[in-house]
Amino acid sequence: MTTSTRIDSIAALRRALEPARRAGQTIALVPTMGALHAGHGSLIERARRESDVVVVSVFVNPIQFDNATDFAAYQINLDADTAFCGERGADLVFAPPAGEMYPPDRATHVEVERLGEHLCGRFRPGHFRGVTTVVAKLFNIVQPHRAYFGEKDAQQLAIIERMVRDLDFPIEIVPVETVREPDGVAMSSRNRRLSPGERGLAPLLYAALSKGRTAILEGCTSGREARQLILDCLAAEPQLRPEYVEVVDAASMEPVEDLRGRRLRLAAAVWLGSTRLIDNVAAVCLQQPD
Ligand code: AMP
Repeated sequence: MTTSTRIDSIAALRRALEPARRAGQTIALVPTMGALHAGHGSLIERARRESDVVVVSVFVNPIQFDNATDFAAYQINLDADTAFCGERGADLVFAPPAGEMYPPDRATHVEVERLGEHLCGRFRPGHFRGVTTVVAKLFNIVQPHRAYFGEKDAQQLAIIERMVRDLDFPIEIVPVETVREPDGVAMSSRNRRLSPGERGLAPLLYAALSKGRTAILEGCTSGREARQLILDCLAAEPQLRPEYVEVVDAASMEPVEDLRGRRLRLAAAVWLGSTRLIDNVAAVCLQQPD
């Protein structure tokens, strides 16, 4: 087992990476908010296989929270997370305090237009602007060759891919498949907040999305019908309260009605008690438009 070195200042991180950069080694970045689980683990392990130096950032980014209660409830244990990174072969853990990332007189944000208008963006004002701002900062601080993001947060991934393209970051974005529990629930730090009863209902989210995907594979070409099928499936359990269910184009993240020939994401956010869960599945509609 290796151990990861924890670093909390931007200057110290740049110093630590300097020898590797000079030697022409490849650097990978895995941005996280800590409370690490096997989903994060798969990003770190993939980065380890593909690059010489692996940096995991652990930073609960205050400016991406649209809800103060959610931010307050976001508990992490830096020692446990650093040990977790070491077990998976990460070299450095970058865990800056908020003041290191955000000087009090900061005045700059990064915002990707349009891709954040639907899905989570509609319900979490300012969320994606906070994400793109912190990720752009991390890209400039670490200057990685590759950065790893989970498909679990498909809208975030699409927005970051667009930011990298539009702003010419010389970074390859590597998408990593969603890691699930044996019962289908997507791993998430927020699952820990579910009561045992709520946890028992959580598999319905993935089951409902999977039903929509199967319908599309079997010939459904209407976004409205696929969406309704998912909603009907979720309605079987009244404790599970949908915030949104959408069938979107995988590139634009905009809802679509005529699914023919498209690469799609079926995405949903649901509330279980006071916990908000999101999930999505990819689907391709093989029928071609006339
Ligand atoms: P977070 O700490 O929730 O901000 O997530 C950090 C990164 O891990 C993001 O790129 C997420 O998409 C990814 N991630 C979180 N959960 C999973 C999962 N179950 N499977 C794969 N990637 C995940």
